[in-house]
Amino acid sequence: MTLSQLARSIAESPTLRLNEEARYLKEKGEPVIHLGIGEPKNKTPISAILSSAAQLNAGDVKYTPTDGIPSLKKAIIRYTEENYDRLVEPENVIVSSGAKQALFNLLFTLINPQDEVVILAPYWVSYPEMVKMVYGVPVIVTPEDGTFRPRMEDIERKVTSYTKAIIVNSPNNPSGLIFREDFMGEIVEFCEKKGIYLITDDIYHKLVFDGKTPAPAYRFTRKDPESTRVIVINGISKIYGMTGFRVGWTIASKKVVEVMTNVQAQTTSCTSLILQAGAEGALTGLQSIVESLRLTIQNNRDVTMQELKSFRGVTTTRPEGTFYCLPDFRAYTQNSEELSNLLLRKALVVTVPGSEFGMEGYLRLSYSGSVKEITEGVARIKWALDPESPNEIYIGDRKMVRDWL
Ligand code: PMP
Repeated sequence: MTLSQLARSIAESPTLRLNEEARYLKEKGEPVIHLGIGEPKNKTPISAILSSAAQLNAGDVKYTPTDGIPSLKKAIIRYTEENYDRLVEPENVIVSSGAKQALFNLLFTLINPQDEVVILAPYWVSYPEMVKMVYGVPVIVTPEDGTFRPRMEDIERKVTSYTKAIIVNSPNNPSGLIFREDFMGEIVEFCEKKGIYLITDDIYHKLVFDGKTPAPAYRFTRKDPESTRVIVINGISKIYGMTGFRVGWTIASKKVVEVMTNVQAQTTSCTSLILQAGAEGALTGLQSIVESLRLTIQNNRDVTMQELKSFRGVTTTRPEGTFYCLPDFRAYTQNSEELSNLLLRKALVVTVPGSEFGMEGYLRLSYSGSVKEITEGVARIKWALDPESPNEIYIGDRKMVRDWL
């Protein structure tokens, strides 16, 4: 049996694989700490539960319009007005099953074979694979100054006549950085001058710390929604902790949305009505939920930074948002996959190798869990790697002795 070459070339999702591994170990009773996962621990907002439950109780769960139910689209339009100062029309909005599907369907809509898509490292693992899945060519731009902040001069050097789109994700997974306002302004101007689509993945835009507010690119365009090249991807997974609802959306010109709707109609038909209703409930319900989640995560960030400070040889750029950080472990090894495997086997801590994000030698740690998980997780990593840390530790009720350093 032969399989598609393209399909076989697509890497498995490392974070989903790690989730499975962690679940398997946990089921076996192993005291695994999951610093790999990208989802908050909060309960689903009550307004979302009630809204979904009402649909279910009515017993009338059928197909919806492909681009989303009108009432959810209305809530998204209001959200866009409040957060981006932009009034868009229902035809500028399409609801998908998660920001992930929104991005894929958007790329399918925009990209011709061999078109190039510029991706800024460190990047979310799925971007390059999605570009390959639509026969495009991912072009990675890594900041040459060794920081996680993208620079226009590095980007301009990689842009060619084949460049169709640039993907920007700020606040950034995995670095946790918010890109500067002047950078956002410049890249919008650059893309609009060159006719390049600027896809802005804003999925973490409210999970920001220390009073900082990200400057979303969509606010910088001086063009109207029909002629701007800026496209917004957003969703409910992160800011409401509703990862399992699988609802995301795209704001783009009517033409882009129309074609994307056809793509979606031929593949998934629509996002489940029950889950769309839940998303609407979240967007129209009490927004203090987002603030309380933000405060919890900010506190987790502080704890993580405090714990990492005393880690010999490890430096970490202080995150300004999201629930990730990307510490530099190159003082210990250049091979982040080996390091991540070692930490899972020896210390039962799940981390994600930096190589998955275009940053070899780094590890992505998530602080979306509890303070206890963070402190214990970092303590176990220190025990596994730092010869100056005590060589005995309790993992669960087992006393472990380090014998590999
Ligand atoms: N973009 C980024 C940067 C992400 O980190 C994630 C989730 N890990 C997504 C998009 C996908 O979000 P969703 O759950 O809405 O598909």
